Amino acid sequence: MPNRFTVIEHRLQPARQAASPNFNLRPQPVEVSLLVIHNISLPPGRFGYGHIELFFQNRLPVAADPFYREIADLQVSSHLLIERTGDVVQFVDFDKRAWHAGASCFDGRENCNDFAVGIELEGTDTLPYTDAQYKSLVSVTHALQQAYPAITDTRITGHSDIAPQRKTDPGPAFDWLRYRQALSASP
Ligand SMILES: [Zn+2]
Repeated sequence: MPNRFTVIEHRLQPARQAASPNFNLRPQPVEVSLLVIHNISLPPGRFGYGHIELFFQNRLPVAADPFYREIADLQVSSHLLIERTGDVVQFVDFDKRAWHAGASCFDGRENCNDFAVGIELEGTDTLPYTDAQYKSLVSVTHALQQAYPAITDTRITGHSDIAPQRKTDPGPAFDWLRYRQALSASP
């Protein structure tokens, strides 16, 4: 099956573009060489509200959920969000530094945001992700590996792996074996 996605000038196509102001420049010279998988849901445990997008644009509707007052002032982002439907939204161009990993370390190197692409899956640690999400994630990963060859299969990791004291996502619900097998099955 031909890949659905491609990266052109640091943007995924086709993907909906929803620019986030929460990014800065990567330190130079740097090679994009890590993929970090996350999850997020807003309100927590609920899907399809469109609030993740608003959160990454600093426009969270604070009255909509009590939890939102705690997070409204955070300035965060990811490069991509894969919704439960498999639809993909891009917030930050891949050559820019999105703010998703925080204090983190991969293979002895700190500040993973400097050299990583961050993908949020709409979900929770414990609820199974959808087939559509796995399908999109595999296609998106292939497109990223094509554009940024330093993202080898061994340089795909979870937020919980690079910030184990602070983070649990993408959680036990994420089926790494399924993902990795699908990655190697369809080039
Ligand atoms: Zn995360």
